[in-house]
Amino acid sequence: EEWKDRGAAVSVRRELDKSGRPVVRQVKKGVRDFSFGRILGEGSYSTVYFATDRQTLKEYAIKVLEKRHIIKEKKIKYVNIEKNTLNRLTEHPGIVRLYYTFQDETSLYYVLDLCNGGELLGVLKRTGTFDVECTRYYGAQILDAIDYMHSRGVIHRDLKPENVLLDHQMHVKITDFGTARLLPDPRTAQDTKADGGDGLDSDSRNGDDGRAASFVGTAEYVSPELLTHKNACKASDLWAFGCIIYQLLAGRPPFKAGSEYLTFQKIVNLEYEFPQGFPPLARDLVERLLVLDPARRLTIEHIKNHEFFSGQQFGRFLWRSKAPRL
Ligand code: ATP
Repeated sequence: EEWKDRGAAVSVRRELDKSGRPVVRQVKKGVRDFSFGRILGEGSYSTVYFATDRQTLKEYAIKVLEKRHIIKEKKIKYVNIEKNTLNRLTEHPGIVRLYYTFQDETSLYYVLDLCNGGELLGVLKRTGTFDVECTRYYGAQILDAIDYMHSRGVIHRDLKPENVLLDHQMHVKITDFGTARLLPDPRTAQDTKADGGDGLDSDSRNGDDGRAASFVGTAEYVSPELLTHKNACKASDLWAFGCIIYQLLAGRPPFKAGSEYLTFQKIVNLEYEFPQGFPPLARDLVERLLVLDPARRLTIEHIKNHEFFSGQQFGRFLWRSKAPRL
């Protein structure tokens, strides 16, 4: 019942009125306005299809969530978080855009940007490691997208190479906002019933999905403050960013062990090593990101000004520039 469809999306229908005169009516887009193609991927609660708008022939990815399954698994809250968050993040090329939402009796539908290039993780697995040029380029795009989401009051909380998708130009599109935290939107600042806007957030998932109450995200990328203080803040996304930069160059994440528990131990003890030959400027950047105290981690501005990114464009030019060969 809480599910409200995005209203702006309309499709034009030509019909005859009562007296037989042709009229053009605008109707909300629905399942029948798209032709569904192959499956692009499957998640635990969803199937993502390639789809084409029958009218415009524009291509999309449509994520289909089965209502029964969502209710049974008590995921309604996360489905709504994802939709509300994506509806706040519609103006940046580095974030998967949600164009329309609708539903029928059995399912919910999200019409999203098509990401033909797959996951950054898949690309990394194929290449093994990235060189400095590719790491700088993809790092800059990820950082630019984080900058935008933080400016809109969104903490992602589960950044990792699987959640970084690539479009047909091999440009970054960040996805998976189901565990995001919405702070009051700094631009409207009316809905200030949440926390004070400093980005600090005490997570209150009371184990309603069977996972530990304090843990959201993925073990390898989770920040130490989430493990020790059950707090996620904007800087937690920058911890994950540090892990991703490390992983692109090393081919594996910095903290990885046989179990979640052992991985957490490594994180809170800052137990990781750089492989031989790890580029020194990147090493310096990672060391300033993988800092236990979130207040002492580099900020986004610091990162942009770090020598590793020297000469790198951010903002509009970055998204116009061609992706380097992988
Ligand atoms: P889980 O819910 O188990 O964590 P997930 O978050 O990956 O899985 P989805 O976001 O539904 O679940 O994605 C399922 C698969 O579809 C993923 O493998 C992803 O690569 C692919 N996919 C998701 N969104 C898109 C998109 N916009 N374009 C292309 N492929 C996509």
